Amino acid sequence: MQVDELAECGALHYWLGALGEHLDDYLRFDRPDPQQTKHKWKEPLNQSLPIVGVGMEQLVAEMGQIVIPNGAQIPHPGFSSYITTGPTTSATLAMVAGAIAAPQRIGLHAFNYLEELSLRWLLELFELTPSMQGLYTSGGSVANLIALGAARQRAYEKRGLDAAREGISIGGKVFASAESHHSVLRACAVLGLGRNALVKIECDDEGRICPDNLEARIKESSEPVIAIVGNLGSTNAGAIDPVQDLVAIAQAHDTWLHLDGAYGLPGILDPHVKRFYQGIEQANSVSVDPHKWLGAPVGVGVVFVKDKELLQRAFTQEPAAYLEGSECSQGAQHSLDQLGTPYSEFGVELSAPCRGAIVWALLREIGVNGMQARIVRHNEMARKLAQRVLNIPELELLREPMLSICCFRYRSKHISNLDKFNSELHRRLIHNSQHMPSTTIINGCVAIRPCFIGARTPDSEVDGLIEEVLQVGSELLNDATWLSASQKTL
Ligand SMILES: *Cc1c(COP(=O)(O)O)cnc(C)c1O
Repeated sequence: MQVDELAECGALHYWLGALGEHLDDYLRFDRPDPQQTKHKWKEPLNQSLPIVGVGMEQLVAEMGQIVIPNGAQIPHPGFSSYITTGPTTSATLAMVAGAIAAPQRIGLHAFNYLEELSLRWLLELFELTPSMQGLYTSGGSVANLIALGAARQRAYEKRGLDAAREGISIGGKVFASAESHHSVLRACAVLGLGRNALVKIECDDEGRICPDNLEARIKESSEPVIAIVGNLGSTNAGAIDPVQDLVAIAQAHDTWLHLDGAYGLPGILDPHVKRFYQGIEQANSVSVDPHKWLGAPVGVGVVFVKDKELLQRAFTQEPAAYLEGSECSQGAQHSLDQLGTPYSEFGVELSAPCRGAIVWALLREIGVNGMQARIVRHNEMARKLAQRVLNIPELELLREPMLSICCFRYRSKHISNLDKFNSELHRRLIHNSQHMPSTTIINGCVAIRPCFIGARTPDSEVDGLIEEVLQVGSELLNDATWLSASQKTL
C-alpha cells in the first residue's frame, strides 16, 4: 500500500483565502446556535481515528461547512458575558504570520524584536515605569502566578531563604480583596503556599477593598506577608481598588504590591476614570490581558515586574546544555547566533508563540487614538446603560459602573423572588441570542451583568439590551407556564 506522507506545507495564499471566506460567513451570525443543531454537525464530525487522510481539499471543506459555522457565540456583537471577546482581524493575521514565519520567540528576528518593542509600547501606553521587565503569558491567570512567584521569592529572600531553590519551610500570606480573581487563589496553591494562604479582605459597597481592614489583617498576621493583590477592575463588576492606599500600606509593611489589571488596566485611557489609576507605577508588578479589551486572540496576557533579576531567580530554568551551547559570545552575525531576550528565564514556558507581534499589530493598525476611542466608548456604554436603568421604573441599578460592566436587574412589586425571576429572564436572553450578558451576585442579589469589551459591539447594544430585558420581563410576568413551573414564587 502506498502511503502519502506529505502534509501540505505551503499554498497559504490559496488556503487562507478559502478559510477567510468561511470565516467572513461565520461573522454574519445568521445561523442557529450550535446547541440547537448539534445533531447536524456532531454526527458528521464524529469519525473514527482516520487511518488514511482525506487531504487538504476535503479537510478545508469540512472546516468551512461543519466546524466554523458551528463555532462559538463569543465574537457576536451582542455577546457581553464574562470578560471575553473575539479577536480583530489585524491580531488574527499577526497570529497566523507568527505561526509560519517565527514559530518561537528566540533568535534575532523581526518578530522577536516586536516582542520587546510591544512590551515597551504597553508600558508607555499604560504609564508604567519604562524599566519594568515585561513577559507575555498565556493569560491573566499565568500573569498572576508569575507576579506572585516573584513576590514569594522576595519575601523569603528577606529571611535568607531561596524559595525557588529550596522550597518553602514556613508559611506566608497573600492579601487580596474578596472580589479578587480566583487565579490568585490557585497561584497560592501552585506556589506551595496553599489556598489557605489567601486572606480575603472585605470590600465596600462599590466592590473596592477596604484599606483599614487590609491594614488590620496584615498587622495581626504572624506569618510572612508575601504580597498584597489589588484589582484594577474586578472581574465581578469592574471595581478599581484604592491604589494609593494599597501603595501606602505595601510600603509601610515593606511588602510586594501586585495590581491585577487583566481586564481593567486599559481603562486608564479613559479620562473619566484615569484618576483611579494614580499611583500604579509604584506597584512591584502589574498584569494586563491584551486578549480581553485590546482584541488579541485568546492566549495573550502580560505581566510587568520591576525587579528583573529577582524575577529571573524565581523562574530560571537553570543553564541547559542544549540552549546555552547554541549561542555565540562574539558579535552576532546571524539570527541564530543569539537567542535574544531570555523570556523563558522569567516565566513558566519555554516554547511559546511570538505574541508581541499580535500586540504590535493591534496598536499599529488603530494607534493609541483608536484603542482609547474603544475603551472610552465601552465605558460610556456602561454609564449610559446605568443612566437609562435609573430612569426606568421596571429596572434597578445594582452597582454604579466604574468601567465597562453595568450590573442591574428587572423588578416589579408583583415579583416575590427577584433572584429567580432575573435568572429566568437572563436564560431567555441567552436563548434568544440577540443580547447575551452574563449574571453575577451584587450585595446578595442576582444581577444582569453586561461587560462591553468587544470591538464588534456597537453603541446600539445598550438600547437593544434594555428593550429586550423590558420585553422579556413583561412576558415573563404574564407567562403562566413559567409561573407554575416555578411553584408560583412570584
Ligand atoms: C480574566 C481575569 C483574569 C484571568 O485571566 P485569564 O486570561 O482568563 O487567565 C485574572 N484577573 C482578572 C481581574 C480577570 O478579569
